[in-house]
Amino acid sequence: MKRRFNNDPSELLVKWACNCATCGAKLQKGARAYYWPSDKKMYCLTCGEPDFRRFLEEVADEEMLTFRY
Ligand SMILES: [Zn+2]
Repeated sequence: MKRRFNNDPSELLVKWACNCATCGAKLQKGARAYYWPSDKKMYCLTCGEPDFRRFLEEVADEEMLTFRY
């Protein structure tokens, strides 16, 4: 997958304990979480997943369009 933006969100392992930016749930070191570089926030899997999925779908849609031309 081509990455066009440096601020693409990503799924990663928590390097240091922090809290979900939405619900405040504790994110333990080593736990999976979503990170959005554009606003420098970490989200737990529950809060981050809907937005992350939307992002992936948008990227997929754009790549489908690119394919067609
Ligand atoms: Zn959360």
